[in-house]
Amino acid sequence: MSRGPQRHDEPCPVCDATTTHLVTIELRQEGPDGENCAYSREPYRVTECTVCGRSRASRVRSA
Ligand SMILES: [Zn+2]
Repeated sequence: MSRGPQRHDEPCPVCDATTTHLVTIELRQEGPDGENCAYSREPYRVTECTVCGRSRASRVRSA
């Protein structure tokens, strides 16, 4: 539940090299309001380069 960010080596397009990234999973609500009765939250995998600070999020697809 309370896991901190994990470190993962990934290529960074800004650094143009493989650098250490902090990886966190966060839930984001998407879609316009009232799209559904239920909340539609999608998990996003957020990676932040520890060298240049660039972060980006990509949706995690389960299944
Ligand atoms: Zn970088």
